[in-house]
Amino acid sequence: MAAMLMVLLASCSEKSVMPVYVWASGGEKLSDEALREQFGMWKSHRVTGVCYNVGWNLEQIARISALAHEFGMEYHAWIPTMLDGGQDPSWYTVNRLGESAYDHPAYVPYYKTLDPHNPAVVAHLVNRYGQVAEIPTVDYIQLDYIRYADVILSRGLWDKYGLVMDEEYAPADYCYCDDCVADFQARTGIDIRAMEDPSKCTEWAEFRCNVVTALVNRIAAAVHAKGKKISADVFPGPDSYARWMVRQQWNDWAVDAFFPMNYNDFYLEPASWVGEITREEVQSVSAQQIPVYSGLFICRDWRNKASIEDPEGHGLLPSEVEEAVTGAMEAGAAGICLFSAGSMTEDHWAVLDRIRGL
Ligand SMILES: [Zn+2]
Repeated sequence: MAAMLMVLLASCSEKSVMPVYVWASGGEKLSDEALREQFGMWKSHRVTGVCYNVGWNLEQIARISALAHEFGMEYHAWIPTMLDGGQDPSWYTVNRLGESAYDHPAYVPYYKTLDPHNPAVVAHLVNRYGQVAEIPTVDYIQLDYIRYADVILSRGLWDKYGLVMDEEYAPADYCYCDDCVADFQARTGIDIRAMEDPSKCTEWAEFRCNVVTALVNRIAAAVHAKGKKISADVFPGPDSYARWMVRQQWNDWAVDAFFPMNYNDFYLEPASWVGEITREEVQSVSAQQIPVYSGLFICRDWRNKASIEDPEGHGLLPSEVEEAVTGAMEAGAAGICLFSAGSMTEDHWAVLDRIRGL
């Protein structure tokens, strides 16, 4: 009898598959029934957990997370942190030209970025995420857009915005508000506004990385105090991209899981790059043993990819999924996350199911 039990346990553990998460949004428009259908489909592909973005809508987060739990899935309340157009005008970052992101956002109208150094912003975010963490069926708070604006865009986006970004882009270089400038001067003695080329000042880059880290760690402490965990969507790296593009020195963050957006097409890189960058990411947090889930950008209209100009319509073809996934796992990833669930075609799922032995 005992021997039989051992055999059963062994076969159960053999069935544990590589963790797969999905990013999803739009759930607030779906009925419970429609959401159950969605969760059921993901469950049939043995999806481990969902990162669901319904913004700050507490009622919707409670409803959708309860349904996720019905299907035995982990729920990450995915909420962009620094993009919020509806707050006090004094809460926004100010660029190197002295313009506020409140009324002069860089690149696109919705890039209204809050100032992570502003104590009122910090208190507001800590309080808000704390409220989300109190929802019983929320397992993780997931920070996204937890950064400054892209002072340099990824290579794949230069043509889209008509820019050549061989240096830091002053209209998207933040934050030069009076408080940030004064605090930096008090700490280092440097008047950053008097510098001819602030991009050459390593202390200034480091100061802003530390500002973001301090904010993350404050939110993480509040979330942990409620008995919940915290995950973060970050740029690849941190050294290769995140630190100098968006001031994320994320290997300093006290979070429970990282979901780096290893979107190879945004960097004009092939699928094999996913494994390379994942290796750097895993190694950067290996001392703290924080799991890294490699984020993959999926091409929905993959048969027409060659004729799609916007790189945000690109992504992995079904034929590239295996190389990206096995590269990430061989590099030490704890699993993968798909951007987005809605872009996964039957062809993509078929490849993924095969790799995972389903
Ligand atoms: Zn500032």
